[in-house]
Parts: sequence; structure tokens; C-alpha cells
Amino acid sequence: MQLLKSNIDTNLFTSLTTPEIYQADVNTTPMVKICSVTKIYPNGTRALLDVDLKVRRGEFLFITGASGSGKSTLLKLLYREELPTKGYVVVDDCDLVKLRGDAISLFRRQVGIVFQDYKLIPQRTVAENVNIVLQAQGYTRKEIRRRLEPTLKLVGLLSKANKFPKHLSGGEQQRVSIARAIVSTPQLILADEPMGNLDLDNSWQIIQILQKLNSFGATVIITTHDENLVRRCNHRVVEVNNGKIRLQQ
Ligand code: ADP
Repeated sequence: MQLLKSNIDTNLFTSLTTPEIYQADVNTTPMVKICSVTKIYPNGTRALLDVDLKVRRGEFLFITGASGSGKSTLLKLLYREELPTKGYVVVDDCDLVKLRGDAISLFRRQVGIVFQDYKLIPQRTVAENVNIVLQAQGYTRKEIRRRLEPTLKLVGLLSKANKFPKHLSGGEQQRVSIARAIVSTPQLILADEPMGNLDLDNSWQIIQILQKLNSFGATVIITTHDENLVRRCNHRVVEVNNGKIRLQQ
């Protein structure tokens, strides 16, 4: 069952720089719609208050704000980790509030998710950490081989395919986690503070990889509290403040 529109083909990593087939949609159709969303956690914390946000297909969006302002909660709503208390969340015409059971994991497989703390499996090599996603989704060995190399190349880790996470720097580990998130070429990439543990150089590398994926047609949404990094890029920025969207530019 396909919940989202089809994934971006992996050939884009190596062959095309302009994904013509996606051009028609870029900048017109909202891929993500968050409408009148309030999120109150069971302990009574009001994390988001009547938030509206639309993200266009093919957009690169930063969500900024101080710690505790509601950035992660906003992102968690988009990969159905949390449900809104009020309002609705739609990704690619899929109403996430209505998803139940297997449809939730199926939906998550179609979204690339990157976390601040990488979440790699320490006993598995770089290649295995990346492949595991495709194995779980029933890809053939041939298809896994076809996807692995261009993906590791894109994140600059082809030469480290057989290394274990403990032998990699923080920046490299985050690049493995990006490879894992994108190896199935999802249309939507969500990154929650992906540079949170990294120095400036490594953070910039991560941004450049995400920008490259965006140039292939992927919609990218990143939360960050790093204002300097955001200023170096020319993308739309949404600021969350005390659970409200304060500024959209
Ligand atoms: P940010 O990502 O901007 O740091 P979060 O979305 O993580 O902000 O948190 C927003 C608010 O919701 C904070 O007050 C935080 O403590 C609270 N919060 C986050 N997750 C939970 C949870 N699972 N249960 C209760 N409160 C939570």
C-alpha cells in the first residue's frame, strides 16, 4: 500500500541535477498542511497552540525557536509520533490523525527521519545500518545493492561502508543516519536538530547534503536553534515561540 505519492528515484542521486518530473509540482501544491493544531501533552503541558503551517512540495524549510518552544512537537506531528489534541495534520493528502495500526508504520517508512542523536545500531557497520531500512521493507538484494552505493557516495561515506559507528566522528555518524533516512528516496525528509551535536564545519556539511537532496526534488523540513546557520542559507524560516508560530519569512 502506498500512502504517499511515489518516492523519488534513486537515479536522481547520480544522474540528474534537475528532476524534471517533479518540477510541475514544486512551489505550487502544499505537501504538508498543519491546520489549527493545538497539542497538549497528558501532563498538561501546552506545547502548541492553534498553529497553522503549509509547506510546499519541494520546499526547504527551517523551523527555529528556543529550546522548549515546540519545534520537536511540530515535527513529531508530521511523522505521526504524536497526535494533535485539536486540529489536523495532512501530508501528501494523507490525514495523519486518521491513520491506525499498520498504516502508521507504513507511512513512517515513506518519510526520511533524521534525529539529533543519530540512533545508529552500534553492532552494525555503516552499510548494514543503511541497508536495514530496505531489508525491513522487503527490497530485493539486487535493489539494495543498487541503492547503497549512490547513497553512501552522496553523504561522502563510500570508503567507510564497512566501519562500525564507534570508529566514526559525530559528523560521519550523522551522515550515516542521513543515508539511512534517504536510501529509500523519500519525498519528505524531516530532521530534528540534526546539527545539535555537531561543530560548525560538520553542521554545514549536513546542510549541504540536505540542500542537495532538496535540489533533487525532496521536501526538507529541519528544526534548529542555530540562528547563524539559518542565516547562511536562503530558505524560508518559521519561528516557533511558546507554542505559537511567531514569524514566517
Ligand atoms: P523544542 O523542540 O522546541 O525544544 P518541544 O516540542 O520538545 O520543544 O517541547 C515543547 C514543550 O512540550 C516543552 O515544554 C516540553 O517540556 C514539552 N514536552 C515535550 N514532549 C513532552 C512529553 N512527551 N510530555 C510532556 N511534555 C512534553
